[in-house]
Amino acid sequence: AALITVAGCSTDDKDLYKSAGQPVEKRVENLLSQMTLEEKVAQMCQYVGLKHMQIAEKNMTVKELKKNHAQGFYPGLHSSDLVHMVEEGMIGSFLHATDLKEANYLQSLAQKSRLKIPLLMGIDAIHGNGQCVGATIYPTPIGQASTFDPALVEQVSKETALEMRAMGSHWSFTPNVEVARDPRWGRVGETFGEDPFLVSKMGVATIKGLQGENFDTPENVLACAKHFVGGSQPVNGINGAPFDGSERTLREIFFPPFKACVEAGAYTIMTAHNEVNGIPAHGNKWLMQDILSKEWNFKGFIVSDWMDIERMHDYHSVAESMDDAFIMSVSAGMDMHMHGPGFMEGIVKAVREGKLSEKRINESVRKILTAKFKLGLFENPYYDEVKSKEVLFNPSHQKTALDIARKSIVLLKNDNILPLTESKYKKVFVTGPNADTHVILGDWAVPQPRENIVTVLDGLKRISPETQFTTLEFGWNLRTMKPEKIKQAGVMAKQADLAIVVVGENSMREHWGEKTCGENTDRMDINLPGLQQELVETIYNTGVPTIVVLINGRPLGVEWIAGNVQALVEAWEPGSFGGQAIAEILYGKVNPSGKLPVTIPRNVGQIQCVYNHKYTTKWFPYAIGNSGPLYPFGYGLSYTTFKYENLKIEKEQVTSKESVTASIDVVNAGQFDGEEIIQLYIRDDYSSATRPVKELKDFSRISLKKGERKTISFRLTPEQLAFYNADMEYGVEEGTFTLMIGSSSRDEDLQKITLKVKN
Ligand code: BGC
Repeated sequence: AALITVAGCSTDDKDLYKSAGQPVEKRVENLLSQMTLEEKVAQMCQYVGLKHMQIAEKNMTVKELKKNHAQGFYPGLHSSDLVHMVEEGMIGSFLHATDLKEANYLQSLAQKSRLKIPLLMGIDAIHGNGQCVGATIYPTPIGQASTFDPALVEQVSKETALEMRAMGSHWSFTPNVEVARDPRWGRVGETFGEDPFLVSKMGVATIKGLQGENFDTPENVLACAKHFVGGSQPVNGINGAPFDGSERTLREIFFPPFKACVEAGAYTIMTAHNEVNGIPAHGNKWLMQDILSKEWNFKGFIVSDWMDIERMHDYHSVAESMDDAFIMSVSAGMDMHMHGPGFMEGIVKAVREGKLSEKRINESVRKILTAKFKLGLFENPYYDEVKSKEVLFNPSHQKTALDIARKSIVLLKNDNILPLTESKYKKVFVTGPNADTHVILGDWAVPQPRENIVTVLDGLKRISPETQFTTLEFGWNLRTMKPEKIKQAGVMAKQADLAIVVVGENSMREHWGEKTCGENTDRMDINLPGLQQELVETIYNTGVPTIVVLINGRPLGVEWIAGNVQALVEAWEPGSFGGQAIAEILYGKVNPSGKLPVTIPRNVGQIQCVYNHKYTTKWFPYAIGNSGPLYPFGYGLSYTTFKYENLKIEKEQVTSKESVTASIDVVNAGQFDGEEIIQLYIRDDYSSATRPVKELKDFSRISLKKGERKTISFRLTPEQLAFYNADMEYGVEEGTFTLMIGSSSRDEDLQKITLKVKN
């Protein structure tokens, strides 16, 4: 037989791809050369795990399955079909195989297939591997962003990768680096907030933690920067609704985090549910080819979001049939289809009919196989069950989860009541729907074993054992709180020296119907849902000193509460040890240090309410009411006082190619040791295209002992002064820039100095 030489090896050597000693590229080419067209397209197919399919099968009638077609459950597709398909090598990847037994079982099926290509297992492990029971749950990304501590976020992701591997998964659908500028949208908590620079830093940290240097060790997994792009600013705040914005807005606000992730080596990208300026992201050539591939040199693969290729036919109506939708998406650059039947057949047919080339298919398959080889799956697709138990929720992961929870909590208001004096408040009434519940775990987490969670009530009892805590439970249905029970809470509050009311939202997926936040749980207002506001008012009006703790995924317009109660704490969804971290802060064992990664508006009418707005956004105030935000971006209180002095720049004038260092002294002038997040903003004073009033360009989290002083320096590079000018050219314009350094984005918290740029 004639020898065909493929990348330097002969295809007669059928087992070459199995040899770990061979370079990945050679292994890929060797395997590819032996694959049938069906086997190739199979690598582009991902299905949901068997358990998920079985739950749907059990709970839905055929009629309901039909109705849920758009949710990905088909009457014609059964979990038992998937088993055979894997054995025949007709599936390349799964998502949400949420226990190790299932993952190992599926891999054993794949080993029965002709070429024994292991499965790539994906999962949404966005703050710990929360879809799996027994995992360590860290604060949701919005809380992680509140730490302004990328190194800690990287550590969280490193540990998450270990726990994922220990459950048989190799690919996390995170980071969500959408820039969240509309709190009505239910997914704000999955993001790192409203600022492109902060989101980029946190996204890159997540990728580094998950992927390591090159995702080629058994400790690493693939990351996925998502959702490309614009889904965080949908019309009316509705998930999946159109994004309609200029190329300038895309390039200035929404692209930078994705670009940073690509530069940091993110191996996968997930496209967004929505259309982008009239073209669905899933069929968008401009985004997938021109921007990602050509402009940013993205070398990894693109995965579709759940059923979104199908929606190009079903919803967007840009494809007359499902098959057209599949062809449209792959032609535009899609590499893998997430869940659902028909893709494989559609694509194979399209290649046979000449509507797609096999060369195009090879491109996708090459990238997917490369990942499987690098991850070491051909050497060992299984994970050991005994070892798994040692990895999950181990003491060092628990420690990190507590540490990041402490740093993520933001103290918004403190009328000299915190930290609490135990001798003054001996009887404390603790109530509210989020006081004693697993809702602290947040979105994309399933309830965890009770002993693995510290609720707020648990935490308070643990941290202040001498205090007498009384409580009234509300359960977690935030919408159906009973007025009689609220009265009862008032009566109980009166008998206490202090009330701690834990309110907010619920984004746990187990509580569909009760959920008020999370994916596909968007809102037309941003108030506290249900009767929670009444609960707080009733308690406050008894005259008992009242502290409100918020557990929530999105900014809530709690203007009345902020204006009245003695202290207000934004805890986001702080994870397994959230309750302990909250209690430690209330009792002063930990000095709060988190800062807001999003602006908190007063009410829904102010949206879009972001710190980096244009000057004319606030040209005139609203006719009635306060036009400013309730709390600004970057804001957060401490028990100590930080003073900023001595802002200097190394040179007052630079050329557009030079960097310059700015420095400032920060002094801990209060009574506690503490940590502070120092923020550097710029404003381009005059420019050919309009600029935001402020843009975050750097930050630094430092710790300062009582009385200590430190000088903090920031190196400002031309890249940080650059923007898209009136002709959409990227660069630095001559003129003056205002540099602002301080403790939040608020003018009164910033010291200012002018830098001149002249060539
Ligand atoms: C979400 C994605 C997620 C996927 C898989 C989709 O509905 O938009 O973010 O990764 O489901 O769970």
